Amino acid sequence: MNEQRDRTPALRRRNLLKGTGVAAVAAAAAGGGVAAAQNDTAGVTLRWLGTNAWEFTTETATVLIDPWVSRFPTGAYTDGGADPETRIEVHEDVIDEHLPKADTILVTHGHWDHIADVPYLAGRTGATVLGTETHLNLMRAMGAPEGQLSQVAGGELYQFDGYTVEVFRSSHSASGEHKRITFGGTLPGEVPQRPKKIKDLVEGGSLTYLIDFGGVSFFNMGSASFHEHEIAGIRPTVLFLQPGGGHTPRFVERALEATGFPPYVVASHWDDFDRPLTEPAVKGGDWEALRDRVAAASPDTEFLLIDHLESHEF
Ligand SMILES: [Zn+2]
Repeated sequence: MNEQRDRTPALRRRNLLKGTGVAAVAAAAAGGGVAAAQNDTAGVTLRWLGTNAWEFTTETATVLIDPWVSRFPTGAYTDGGADPETRIEVHEDVIDEHLPKADTILVTHGHWDHIADVPYLAGRTGATVLGTETHLNLMRAMGAPEGQLSQVAGGELYQFDGYTVEVFRSSHSASGEHKRITFGGTLPGEVPQRPKKIKDLVEGGSLTYLIDFGGVSFFNMGSASFHEHEIAGIRPTVLFLQPGGGHTPRFVERALEATGFPPYVVASHWDDFDRPLTEPAVKGGDWEALRDRVAAASPDTEFLLIDHLESHEF
């Protein structure tokens, strides 16, 4: 496919960057984030597991955001869109293969491609799980261990072993003529029936996260939206951006401005997630357009495209 040809040069460029990013990161970090971690750990390995699933590994910790690797066909990238009646599948063998460790799991919203694997993964790893009341209720209904679930609403700043996590209120990107959120709604209070179909996993409010490892920090949104005033003043080393946000004026440009034109932008959630994780990512969202907008708005920002199961050292 053409997409395959187009992608190769960018990936080669990324590989050349390996090991050369540290000086730039150190210089950028001098500007400071809002949250200075107590432990000045150098070196974070960032690995992509498709969608908005990212693994951050240091010598002492593994942090996951939206870890979802089960991947069952939904039609999400066909003209008809995802079939709401699609049954949720949790492939424990696939989760075990790709996600060996977790200390902290951050959930941005309740959609299946973000949350469906977390209950099993939390049980296996003993990780702390952050999410809204709705996210946690959905995961409780799927068997997540109650004692590990940490309810957040935005505004929290938590110290972990070698890193901090700051939580911000957000909204999921809207779609369609009436600016609606896919599977919108919340489920506060009582734990619902066990979700069986993807439509049962409602958005449940959205959160964004700043993960600060001391020398390098990462800001992740989970969908193509953020609350500009909530994140005012943050200065991450790495900003994750994804295609979309068509209903959000100047989404990419405002995100870059709000985060101080970070040294790095990493493309997220651009793959067709009906396709296998174990093969090179097939384009679902237009990452080239995203790259071009980043280049125009922030010429000094390095745009990184990381392929399925590949890593980048910061
Ligand atoms: Zn998603």
